[in-house]
Amino acid sequence: MPQQVGLFLFKNDLRVDDNPALARAAAEVDKLICLFCLEAQQPQSNLRAPSKLSPQRQTFLTQSLSDLHVGLRKHGQRLIFSTESPLDIIPQLITQHNISQIYCSENTGDYENQLWQCLVTRYPLINFTRTASHTLFDQGDLPFPLAELPDSFSKFRKQVERLDIKPPVPAPAHLPPSPELSGRWPQIPNVSSHSPLFNGGERQGLAHLERYFERNLASSYKETRNGLDGMDYSTKFSPWLANGSLSARRIVWRLRNYERDVGANGSTYWIYFELLWREYYQWYAHRHGKRLFNFSGIKTSKPTTSFYPERFQKWCNGNTPYPIVNACMKQLNSTGYMSNRGRQLVASCFVHELGLDWRYGAAYMEQQLVDYDTASNWGNWQYLAGVGADPRGHRRFDLAKQTKIYDPNQKFIKQWGGDNHDGVLDSVDAADWPVHGGKESGQ
Ligand SMILES: Cc1cc2nc3c(=O)[nH]c(=O)nc-3n(C[C@H](O)[C@H](O)[C@H](O)COP(=O)(O)OP(=O)(O)OC[C@H]3O[C@@H](n4cnc5c(N)ncnc54)[C@H](O)[C@@H]3O)c2cc1C
Repeated sequence: MPQQVGLFLFKNDLRVDDNPALARAAAEVDKLICLFCLEAQQPQSNLRAPSKLSPQRQTFLTQSLSDLHVGLRKHGQRLIFSTESPLDIIPQLITQHNISQIYCSENTGDYENQLWQCLVTRYPLINFTRTASHTLFDQGDLPFPLAELPDSFSKFRKQVERLDIKPPVPAPAHLPPSPELSGRWPQIPNVSSHSPLFNGGERQGLAHLERYFERNLASSYKETRNGLDGMDYSTKFSPWLANGSLSARRIVWRLRNYERDVGANGSTYWIYFELLWREYYQWYAHRHGKRLFNFSGIKTSKPTTSFYPERFQKWCNGNTPYPIVNACMKQLNSTGYMSNRGRQLVASCFVHELGLDWRYGAAYMEQQLVDYDTASNWGNWQYLAGVGADPRGHRRFDLAKQTKIYDPNQKFIKQWGGDNHDGVLDSVDAADWPVHGGKESGQ
């Protein structure tokens, strides 16, 4: 029987451990090509918004790829890195190596799904397999069909929180070797700058997971989770989870061991609760597809917001009349990370105070966040903008009140220079009319 040659397309599953899609490929073919295309990092929307990865996100990604290469090497494999589109590179590999099977993990990104569909249509004789590896549950585990996904997180949580979570799939003992590849392949780019907070890669993700639980931080998570600055107030699992160098199942199984050995409490439960939020958005994205990026979200009517370039720029640069927002945005621009509390405040400000079209804010975070995850980012933005899964309609935060609660001594604001702004939102000049209300316009 001729040898079966497979191709595994990595995307947001940059790990060998608990990678069910990779385990499946390893079990089914004799030779395997492991490919990652950087070109596939496309923005999810075609807005007039930035589309490049921030240096922090880029660094974290290249660290993750280098580490994956090392991980694959241990199993006799290698990572083929390409800057071409999968639609250009995969056809060449198919012709050269007589590939009969193509594998990847399921994805919530619209671009990735279109790309996959394109390949499936173009190559009817090839076997295409996608496996869930980004979620806690498989679709078949859910107690409802995807089309009947509950319309709010609470309803979802109640239905799934007691379901069993499958144990993580151990790294395959052996990966099929790569066929002899001709030609020169680009090197994974050298990591030039250092990500200030996080080091990308599967080994780093697993080490971080261990460190987090060894230090017993999980036992006080619920009390600390609304912090704005620092490494320890929340788990910081998100960067590794987002590009898949750490799996959500691996985290939950580590959490369960911790609860068994050290003790379960409201805080350990709350970590699981937050992971269920993540889970909800993953299925929400699968359920709603392209609507994740629509101005009207999953609702029927459009918001009344618009795009004002100057306001948008000021928000991005942390130069709004709201010091807490400025501090958060400067933190994001400098580190590639922002707390959950901060994200809610800056998104609320974007939509409700600045009147901006939420999609531009989501696109900016897509560019900047080291933990950018399509489903979590666009789903949370929809929620805040009132076009998503929020039964209350929308969330508008009182920024002064939030500052008093979460930054009472303005330490965070001072630390990031949030009160250093020009004080105006919109500039006016002689060409604008009417310029002012009241006395100056003679009324
Ligand atoms: C406007 C906005 C944009 C966001 N964009 C992203 C994004 O691109 N990627 C991302 O991973 N998270 C996003 N979040 C959710 C949340 O802010 C981050 O997951 C969290 O801040 C990551 O830090 P952590 O790992 O320390 O979280 P922890 O508080 O320690 O939570 C543990 C884990 O639970 C999950 N989680 C927690 N809160 C949420 C939430 N609201 N929605 C979904 N999952 C959650 C994350 O996987 C997180 O790692 C966004 C939230 C908002 C309001």
